Amino acid sequence: ITVTDLTKVYRSRGRETAALDGVDLRVREGEVFGVVGRSGAGKSTLIRCINLLERPDSGTVTVAGQDLTALSGRELRAARTRIGMIFQHFNLLSARTVQDNVELPLEILGLSGQERARKALDLLDLVGLADRAKAYPAQLSGGQKQRVGIARALAGDPQVLLSDEATSALDPETTRSVLELLRELNRELGLTVLLITHEMDVVKAVCDSAALMRSGRITESGTLDELLATP
Ligand code: ADP
Ligand code: ADP
Repeated sequence: ITVTDLTKVYRSRGRETAALDGVDLRVREGEVFGVVGRSGAGKSTLIRCINLLERPDSGTVTVAGQDLTALSGRELRAARTRIGMIFQHFNLLSARTVQDNVELPLEILGLSGQERARKALDLLDLVGLADRAKAYPAQLSGGQKQRVGIARALAGDPQVLLSDEATSALDPETTRSVLELLRELNRELGLTVLLITHEMDVVKAVCDSAALMRSGRITESGTLDELLATP
């Protein structure tokens, strides 16, 4: 993931907020990268610009060699299937079973019912939830819900997984196990992970490299060792 000179200004009721003020970021393939900063630093805006849920005002976002800011409509939808995303509040559909939640992106990709079921069950197995396929989200713990979120995010065989405060609603022990799962997927699938968080502990637990963000800017970045060595 390469982000170059990204800017985004919000205008509301005559006030302007530079949510992103010239952000440069480079996440290498196969790396777990964290962006850490306080509430309001611009982290969510950054991640929404990387999957182009939001259009930046200027700058470029390149994922796996493809400049996403240059794509339109159909191309963009195709490119987006290569980017998985997980959320703080999981964003599962409560009226659908666990399996159906994981199948949803596969439906959009046009897989047959049988292919979808096989793939969804494989993914649920991968995240340790094969036995809960027929359960509904409300019957799961927070950690289990996030595992479903991860399985769903992996359905399109993404090259990149984006995590928006994915452990912020979880207790410390569950946080640890979800971060361990992300680390495992990174190692086993070679998945590149970009996560945003307000907790330095999350970065320390799982990231190879990180950037500190403040007022729409990256103030420091480097490997975890480099960052922790900074006085
Ligand atoms: P973070 O994720 O680090 O908490 P955000 O990206 O949500 O930061 O927000 C960055 C800044 O942009 C904040 O000042 C926030 O209030 C503002 N902001 C975010 N989204 C909007 C929006 N849709 N409209 C106006 N201002 C926004
Ligand atoms: P979280 O902290 O859970 O990431 P936020 O409070 O940052 O959530 O943002 C929730 C939603 O509200 C986002 O869609 C964001 O774009 C929007 N938002 C954030 N700040 C503002 C703002 N100052 N004005 C308008 N919308 C905002």
